[in-house]
Amino acid sequence: MGRRVVVMIGQPGAGKGTQARAIMQQLSIPQISTGDILRDAISRKTQLGMEAKAKMDAGDLVEDRIVNEIVAQRIERDDCAGGFILDGYPRTVQQAKVFQQTLGVDDQFFVIELAVDSGKLIDRLVRRCICRSCGEIYNLDSRVPQQQDVCDRCGGALMHRTDDRAETIAERLRTFEAETFPLIEFYRSYGVYHQVNGMRPIEQVTGEILAILESALTKRR
Ligand code: AMP
Repeated sequence: MGRRVVVMIGQPGAGKGTQARAIMQQLSIPQISTGDILRDAISRKTQLGMEAKAKMDAGDLVEDRIVNEIVAQRIERDDCAGGFILDGYPRTVQQAKVFQQTLGVDDQFFVIELAVDSGKLIDRLVRRCICRSCGEIYNLDSRVPQQQDVCDRCGGALMHRTDDRAETIAERLRTFEAETFPLIEFYRSYGVYHQVNGMRPIEQVTGEILAILESALTKRR
C-alpha cells in the first residue's frame, strides 16, 4: 500500500495547522508545516532563516526553490514512510507541479481546502498564539489555554507570530488570492480536491475531514 498524503489548503487563519495537527494524531502520520520549519530556521539564525525572514515579515511567499527543497528533504525521513500531512505547502502551482513528481502510483493523495469567511480572518489571526516549543495553536476566543501564556500540552511559553499583525495579515491574504487560489483549479482538475467548511467548531471540521479520507479509502478497497 502507498503512502497517505494529505495537502491542506486555506487562507491564513483558516485552521490548516490546527486541523493538520488533529488529523496527525488520528492517523499517526506526521504534520509538515513549511511555516514552522522556516520559523525554526529564523530562530536558529541559519542561512535559510535569514533568506526567508524578510519575505515572511512582508507577508510574501518564500521562493519556490527553497520550500520545494525543504519538503523534498523532509518527506525522505523514515517517519513519512506511511504518509504525511502538508500544512502550507504547496502554495503555488509551480510548487504543486514539483511536488506531484514525488508521488508514487500507489500513494493515496487528498487535497482538503478549508473554506472560511475572509472577513473573520483578521480577528482570528490577531487573537492567535502558538507554543514556542511544540507549535500547538491557541486562539484567545475559541481555544483558550488553561493558564495564560502557557501551553496546555507541553508547558511551553506561548507567543504571537510576528506576521500576525493587521498590515502583514492583509498582505498575506492578498498573496493567497494571487498565488495560492489558482492551486484550487489545478487540483480540481486532478479529481482529488475536497472543500470543507472551516467556519464550524474545530472538532466538527476534523470529523468531516476524517470522514472524507475514510470514504475515499473505502472506495479504493
Ligand atoms: P504559515 O505558517 O503557513 O502561515 O506560513 C508563514 C509564512 O511562511 C508565509 O506567509 C510565507 O512567507 C512562508 N511560507 C510557508 N510556506 C510556504 C510555501 N509553501 N511557499 C512559500 N512561502 C511559504
